[in-house]
Formats: sequence, C-alpha cells, structure tokens
Amino acid sequence: MLGLLELASSLGKPIHADSMTKDHRRLGFAHICIEMSASYSFPSFIELYQGIDEFSGEPKIATILVEYQWLPFVCNLCHVFGHSDSSCSRKVPSPSQPPKEGPSPPYMQA
Ligand SMILES: [Zn+2]
Repeated sequence: MLGLLELASSLGKPIHADSMTKDHRRLGFAHICIEMSASYSFPSFIELYQGIDEFSGEPKIATILVEYQWLPFVCNLCHVFGHSDSSCSRKVPSPSQPPKEGPSPPYMQA
C-alpha cells in the first residue's frame, strides 16, 4: 500500500482508498480519492522509474494509466474549480472572431 500511496501522491494528496484497494483484493486497478490542485494538470498516465535493465542498460519505465471518475470544471485562467475557461469572466474575446454584423455573404445577395 505504501508504494501505491507514493504513486498517488504524485498527483496530489491521497485522502481515501476503497476497501478493495486497501486490502489488495483487486489487482487490476486501485481506486483512490485524491485531493488535487486546480492549477495542476490532470495527466492520463504516470511514468514510474524501475531502475536500469540489467541486459540493455536502459532505464525501465512503467506507465501507470490514470482515469478520473469525476472531474469538476477547471478554469485555467483563474486556476480554480467551478467554471471552465470558456465561461470565465476574465476571458478576453479573441480578436480573430469575425464581427457579428457585416456585409451579407455573396450567396445572400441578389
Ligand atoms: Zn476563470
């Protein structure tokens, strides 16, 4: 369980693991509640260094897939939970957007 908590700590603060995870009764995946910062990215995998391969001399890296049961809206402008970038009050309208009013497109003309 310690190795699993260390792994979970790379994402944030582990708060709770379900009984199947705590008791090592399920080997396929771990189910852990982790408190994460809104300013942190939510990676889809963690790379775990496992030493040097004695035959090739290359580092052995295990890829641990991460899935999120629930993700709240996160604003990357304010770095808070609760709203997305698109609904953020700090969002500056993009100058590349075409004006809403203007000349009619050619197919609309007589
Ligand atoms: Zn915002």
